[in-house]
Amino acid sequence: MTSVFRPAIDRMAGYAPGEQPQEGGWVKLNTNENPYPPSPRVVDAIRRAAEGRLNVYPDPSATGFRKVAAKLFNVDPDWILPANGSDENLTIITRSFCDAGQSIAYPYPSYVLYESLAQIQGSQVLRLRLNSQWQWDAAEAAELRKKIRIFFVPNPNSPTGTLWSAEQLAQLLPEQGVLILDEAYGDFCQKPHRGELLRNDLFDGRMIVTRTFSKSYSLAGIRFGFAVAHPDLISGMLKVKDSYNCDTVAIAAATAALEDQDWMLQNRARILATRERLAAALPAFGFLVHPSEANFLWTTHATGQHKEIYEQLKARKILVRFMRFPDALPDGGTLDGLRITIGTDAEIDRVLEVMGDVTNGL
Ligand SMILES: *Cc1c(COP(=O)(O)O)cnc(C)c1O
Repeated sequence: MTSVFRPAIDRMAGYAPGEQPQEGGWVKLNTNENPYPPSPRVVDAIRRAAEGRLNVYPDPSATGFRKVAAKLFNVDPDWILPANGSDENLTIITRSFCDAGQSIAYPYPSYVLYESLAQIQGSQVLRLRLNSQWQWDAAEAAELRKKIRIFFVPNPNSPTGTLWSAEQLAQLLPEQGVLILDEAYGDFCQKPHRGELLRNDLFDGRMIVTRTFSKSYSLAGIRFGFAVAHPDLISGMLKVKDSYNCDTVAIAAATAALEDQDWMLQNRARILATRERLAAALPAFGFLVHPSEANFLWTTHATGQHKEIYEQLKARKILVRFMRFPDALPDGGTLDGLRITIGTDAEIDRVLEVMGDVTNGL
């Protein structure tokens, strides 16, 4: 039978998310979730929302949430666009700013979902290659920014946790288009910004920050994220979003989570301490650990046997992310390695307990 799909959909492979085993018993360190539970105030808010008026539609503009988020970023509420997870905002952005045939760019290796979103839109993808220090070439960036409508950049980056400076990021602002600062891990970096970047003249009012509740706020199971940008950009994006893109329960949960900053900051502090402990322990097993400002570590092993290590850990019910990035090396070769999410201290102890066995067998 001939395909009934748009050619763009036939051509693409589709994004492959990390494994999500539905049974218990796993040490799950593969998708950068927070190992700690959300604030008890979030659970209360969800209960109250569930006991409230679920028979009516939610507030289409999540007015209460926008007020709270605006305060945190020192902007007015019309700078905030809530969404059903940060990924939905990335979809809204792609549909808002990049036509079929036009181009997006992103640093590579990083979050390859951007590539899938562009493919669905029928847009072209240009990669800005990162070198072995996870930095880009400024001259290459200067050429790229002439050709694109959207530049997506995760800051800190995944899979390494590299944080780029405002001056570096300014090299990526498209000549005609928007720069997306994907701050999924923004709360974990040394000094999270509170909207200063958006007001920085370097970005000409054409930067959009995206935030998620899936990582620092321990709410990956509740789909919620938000974008922060100048109201001229937000008002156009509002035309593209679904009318009721965020549900009543999720809006209540996210608002309560944002209001309990102390809870998030306590968990953040624990995660950063555990990250330093893991980073210090891995070299003894032959791993090279890249410096990280996020809730995960990127590591490569002297033997290069990353798939084997991943499988050996999996056999012991420990899931880490084995990642391969074709064409990432200067000679066109594939870069691979392991990204390990920072779990609880007990989970990281378990990893270290088995790592001797796992690496001795290589
Ligand atoms: C986890 C992640 C997201 C997705 O966030 P959701 O709110 O769960 O959709 C977006 N960007 C990056 C870089 C991420 O790692």
